[in-house]
Amino acid sequence: MAKPADTRTAGRKPAMTSTRSAAETEKIRAALAARYDELRAEYDQTLSEITELQRERLTDSAGDDQADTGTKTFEREQEISLANSILERITQVERALERLDEGGYGWCERCGNPIPVERLAAFPSATLCVTCKQLAERR
Ligand SMILES: [Zn+2]
Repeated sequence: MAKPADTRTAGRKPAMTSTRSAAETEKIRAALAARYDELRAEYDQTLSEITELQRERLTDSAGDDQADTGTKTFEREQEISLANSILERITQVERALERLDEGGYGWCERCGNPIPVERLAAFPSATLCVTCKQLAERR
């Protein structure tokens, strides 16, 4: 039997076409860690804003007319949903860091190529490379 070395490289792609270097993994880890700190700070700030709004509501709601109270309730609800979405992103980053340690993070689920570090830094929950994402959205 002839060695299939030449025919194998043409056409069919293996699931993982390349490996990520340790330096790149470190870059992703640093990007994720930075994002984590950013999100924590954002979350803390949102929480203190919620506390502030709550305090305002308790202290000077007596003088407010109904419209003011409504606005404040709305603001508080907005802040709470913002806090929840930040918390969700924090969880995503935590999971990403775990998966990074296991070596299962940062690969496109569809084509198996490594997702660029920059994309992972911007979207820690990305599971597709840009090309596959665009293809998925076009369908
Ligand atoms: Zn892909």
